[in-house]
Amino acid sequence: MEYFAPPLASLIEEFSKLPGIGRKTAQRLAFHVLNMDTKDVNQFINSIINAKKNIKYCSICSNLTEKDPCFICDSTRRDKTVICVVEDPRDVIALERTKEFNGLYHVLHGSISPMEGIGPEDIRIKELLQRLQVVDIKEVILATNPTIEGEATAMYISKLLKPLGIKTTRIAHGIPVGGDLEYADEVTISKALEGRREI
Ligand SMILES: [Zn+2]
Repeated sequence: MEYFAPPLASLIEEFSKLPGIGRKTAQRLAFHVLNMDTKDVNQFINSIINAKKNIKYCSICSNLTEKDPCFICDSTRRDKTVICVVEDPRDVIALERTKEFNGLYHVLHGSISPMEGIGPEDIRIKELLQRLQVVDIKEVILATNPTIEGEATAMYISKLLKPLGIKTTRIAHGIPVGGDLEYADEVTISKALEGRREI
């Protein structure tokens, strides 16, 4: 049984709650914090509090932002008639890195997954539909991940959009099946965007 003084044990406990952090790593991080300057520790704490307090959802695209609307929705240089639908804010960053896409985004914050009990009402599909009613959109690109959940989500949305007469496309599988958009390189994502097809 390991013994740590309660404040240290509590810090290890908090670190071990983070994704991808096992017990050993949590201990290493906690000891690292103890060795840090008080100034750096305060800066670290403030960054966490500041991010948590000031980052919110963009009221248009649901991306994470400090200012509302976000800088992409607010930009005059973006094509506001095309919306690229993604699962996660990190996918927006991955697509932006390619510099291939000049439209707007819509972040769903998840995908439909009956296995995990996540239905269409649990992700931001309703917000997407509301958006399409207010603005004249020429194309919706479904860029959810090429996983079973991502495909199911794309199919579900495409069925909802069909009656609206909006051109709906799906990115091609330049991204490996079972992969994550977030981890794909720029070329792969560019190819996937180029090869998108109507569904
Ligand atoms: Zn936005």
